[in-house]
Amino acid sequence: MTWFGILKTDSSWNLDSRSQGFYNADTKSIEYNPIQIKNALQRELGREPTEKEFEEAFKRLTVHEEGHAAHDLVDDKFNERTAYEHEWVAYSLQYPNEVYTKLKKLISHSKVSGVLSGPKEWTTNNRAKSNIRMFLRYVDKKTKGKSEKEKNKFAKEHLDNYRDSLYVDRGYSRFTFKDD
Ligand SMILES: [Zn+2]
Repeated sequence: MTWFGILKTDSSWNLDSRSQGFYNADTKSIEYNPIQIKNALQRELGREPTEKEFEEAFKRLTVHEEGHAAHDLVDDKFNERTAYEHEWVAYSLQYPNEVYTKLKKLISHSKVSGVLSGPKEWTTNNRAKSNIRMFLRYVDKKTKGKSEKEKNKFAKEHLDNYRDSLYVDRGYSRFTFKDD
């Protein structure tokens, strides 16, 4: 028995890829492009990232892509899942404590936001997505001018009551926040 025998995933560099990382469910392989990782980080920080910041971003991206691979390994219905469900799993691993960052990245993912979605995405998870947007707007309103770290702290403290309605469509018509 080899590690590949268990993990069934290969990783490689692809310096031509337009994405930072990509899990291919057909070939069971992951491609990373460190140039894209660095560019994205640079855009986010508005400056050149330090070596440590780059390592941190790369580490979390690895967890994200390996998360897709692991999800594929254990979920018989992996191919039937929506992009929203795939990305929910991967971002939950990438940002286990950073609720605000996780939801913000999830909702702006090209396959989730609608930019690159297929028909399955147009008709599903809409309620959950609109609840997330509402929650993010609420956090932004309450933490105006604060750092991402403080937004994450606030979001974590206020998410618990609404967690269920963010994951799947359950017919919630509207969020009500305690201090609305
Ligand atoms: Zn992903």
